[in-house]
Amino acid sequence: MALMFTVEQVRAASDRDIDLSPFGFGFDYQNQAWIENGKYLPCAHPASMNCQCYGKIHAGEPIKF
Ligand SMILES: [Zn+2]
Repeated sequence: MALMFTVEQVRAASDRDIDLSPFGFGFDYQNQAWIENGKYLPCAHPASMNCQCYGKIHAGEPIKF
């Protein structure tokens, strides 16, 4: 599995409360959203809940440094 982020990027993310692995997986504690392959994952709530989770609004967006 290829590294997706450099050690510097992982460290920069950590400063912003994002627990990130060099492989692209992690969790954004500030926004309470999971990250996979460097992109935010949608939350698992049903559409009927009409939630406004960060993961739902920003699903598929790459995390910014
Ligand atoms: Zn949600």
